[in-house]
Amino acid sequence: MTLRLHNTLTGTKDVFEPLEPNHVRMYTCGPTVWTFAHVGNLRAFLFYDLVRRHLRVSGYRLTHVLNLTDIDDRILDQAMHAGTTIEEFVKPYAEAFLEDMDLLRAERAEVYPRATEHIPEMVGMIATLIEHDYAYAADGDVYFRIASFPRYGALSHLDRAGLKAGARVATDKYDKESVSDFALWKKAHPEDEKLGAAWDAPFGLGRPGWHIECSAMSKRYLGETLDIHAGGIDLMFPHHENEIAQSEAANHKTFSRVWLHSEFLADATGEKMSKSAGEFTTLRDLVAAGHDPLAVRFFLIANAHYRSRVRLSDEALHAAGEQVRRLREFSDRVKRTPPAEHDDAQLAEKTAQVRAGYREALDDDLNLPLGMGLVFDLVRDANTALDAERVGPQNKAQLLALLDDVDAHLDVLRVDEPGLAEEVERLIAEREEARRARDFARADQIREDLKRRGIALEDSKDGVRWRRITEAARS
Ligand SMILES: [Zn+2]
Repeated sequence: MTLRLHNTLTGTKDVFEPLEPNHVRMYTCGPTVWTFAHVGNLRAFLFYDLVRRHLRVSGYRLTHVLNLTDIDDRILDQAMHAGTTIEEFVKPYAEAFLEDMDLLRAERAEVYPRATEHIPEMVGMIATLIEHDYAYAADGDVYFRIASFPRYGALSHLDRAGLKAGARVATDKYDKESVSDFALWKKAHPEDEKLGAAWDAPFGLGRPGWHIECSAMSKRYLGETLDIHAGGIDLMFPHHENEIAQSEAANHKTFSRVWLHSEFLADATGEKMSKSAGEFTTLRDLVAAGHDPLAVRFFLIANAHYRSRVRLSDEALHAAGEQVRRLREFSDRVKRTPPAEHDDAQLAEKTAQVRAGYREALDDDLNLPLGMGLVFDLVRDANTALDAERVGPQNKAQLLALLDDVDAHLDVLRVDEPGLAEEVERLIAEREEARRARDFARADQIREDLKRRGIALEDSKDGVRWRRITEAARS
């Protein structure tokens, strides 16, 4: 089986192969933590999760970096109004982002770098760009000189002739050689230092522009060439064009071999949802309105292909919740029904076909909706066979294996036991106690017991963390 992904750069579905065999380096643009993530952004973040999961299903080891933008104009404005520093201001929103991701069962990325913790890398890259004439200082700011990078616009297939006239790249009032040059470094305002938002650089006290952070942080954690760079379609221009220009001008290497873009959520007229139209819905709003976060998850990843627009509505979320319920009921039913004496040959054949078809759909540019269509069709047939008591032991095993495949992407079938988190935390504390008392047998036993229950422990520098593991990884 071959994985094909739609690469925005080529405009075609290309066979995916990472640079280093079996290891994928992926960078995804994360949230600006000035407020709660809205559901349009969540669609992009869950798209990253789908890519992650399918790469792992495909057998790859993955290093996935998702950045948090913790400095920009909005954050500065809000922090100033709140009378606090930017660091204090963003803290609850950065936490809320990870909470939302957990509620939506998005797997954790390997690294969540923050812009303000990587200023030296950005300053270094800007210095290189100035040195080689790709960037210039103007009145304390530093701008990237678009004219110095002839490939600018290749990703979004821009007409460069129209670029200067039409593009709104920088809105600053400083001198620039052309209107489409964009800021790499912004001169500090008098109040920025008080907000904790000004850093020293050879080109003056200031702060980085938004675009340079992704170029600098991706290089720091993933090297000069990425296998995959993903983001929402609204970031393609100018943000991703600017990332390419910065990185390729500084490194003289291809920045990302594959670019993936997810479409946005549409409003009733098919246009992008916008805050000004009062459509700035957060996960909290949806949960408060009675929607299960997993229905939201299903809606955002399985309802429509990631490259088509989809309209959020109460009805659509209810329908998604209904599909999750059907799938769960089916899974429970298959598990608890005692097998019939003989297997149903027709059902066996269809299940095998659907299992292969599901995998093919995912390998074909992550077409989860197509795969789910096949699965729900089989669920209907299998329910009929269960009604007639025709589901034998092999049928059962096959159906459960298919559901495992499906849940590797969907992750809506496992049920959180009430009080599980507290119990795991208690057992982790008990294990720590046992280790301190050098009772390693007891400590190992606790780890093994948890593993059997689908919980893996990871010792990290911040203490012991736990995560859920799949059925197959338990034994
Ligand atoms: Zn970015």
